[in-house]
Amino acid sequence: MTGASRGIGRSIAERLARDGRHVVLVARSVDGLAATEKSIKDAGGSCESRPCDMADGAAVQALVDGVAETHGRLDILVNNAGITRDTLLLRMSDEQWDEVLNVNLRSVFISCRAAIRPMMRGKFGRIVNIGSVSGLTGNSGQANYAAAKAALVGFTKTIAKEMGAKGITANVIAPGFIETDMTDVLGDAVKTAVLPNIPVRRFGKPEEIASAVAYATSDEAGYLTAQTIVVDGGLAS
Ligand code: NAP
Repeated sequence: MTGASRGIGRSIAERLARDGRHVVLVARSVDGLAATEKSIKDAGGSCESRPCDMADGAAVQALVDGVAETHGRLDILVNNAGITRDTLLLRMSDEQWDEVLNVNLRSVFISCRAAIRPMMRGKFGRIVNIGSVSGLTGNSGQANYAAAKAALVGFTKTIAKEMGAKGITANVIAPGFIETDMTDVLGDAVKTAVLPNIPVRRFGKPEEIASAVAYATSDEAGYLTAQTIVVDGGLAS
C-alpha cells in the first residue's frame, strides 16, 4: 500500500486493516507512516511500515521482493503514491515532467512487475492503481500528471489481460476532488469555482475512495478486472 503516510493512502490502509488484512505501509515520511501505523494498531489492526522512495526503481523492486519474502505471499498491491508539479505546458520543465512520470507511472510499472510473480505463485492477486479524473478528461496545468494517470489506464488493462487466467485482477480507481493535502493547496476561489461542476456539490472524503478500493481488492471481486472505477461525485460524467 503505497502513499500510506497521509491522505487517501492512510484511509485505504486503515480500511484494509479494518477488513482484516495485514497492511504494509509505504511512503517516504517515517513520521507519517508512524501515525498511520498507530491509528491502525490502536483500532486493533495489523500493519508494518517500510519507508521507501517510489522514485527509486531499485528500491521499489527490493521493497516488493522483501515483502513477498518476509510473508511468503503477496495478495494485494495498491499503488496510491502520487505527486503533482502543476504548471501550464508552455512553462513545464523537463524535470517537472520526469519527476511526475517517475513517481506516478514508472514506480507503478516496477511494483506491478515485481508483485506479479508472488501473486502467480499464490494463484491470487488484486492490483489497484489510483488514477485520477484528470487522466480521463485532461486538466489545464496538469499535462504531466494527466499523461501519467491516463497511461495507468492502458497499463492496468494490459495487466488484467495478461494475468486474468492466473486469478489476478487489475483495476484503476480514479478519484475526483478529494479533501487531502493535494487539494488543500488549491485556493478557496478555485474550490468554489469547481463545486458547480460536481453534481453532489462537495469534495469527496478519503474514506469514500477507500471503500471502493476495499471492494476491488476483496476476495469477492474476482470478476471485476480491467476497469476504471470513477469516484468523483459525478464530476466527469
Ligand atoms: P497526498 O495527501 O499528497 O499524499 C500523497 C501520498 O503519496 C503521501 O503518502 C506521500 O508520502 C506519497 N508519496 C509521494 N511521493 C512519494 C514518493 N516519491 N515515494 C513514496 N511515497 C510518495 O495525496 P492524496 O490526495 O492522498 O493522493 C493520493 C493519490 O490519489 C495520488 O495518486 C493522487 O494522484 C490521487 N488523486 C488524488 C486526488 C485528490 O483530489 N486528492 C484526486 C485524484 C487522484 P510521503 O510524502 O511521505 O512520501
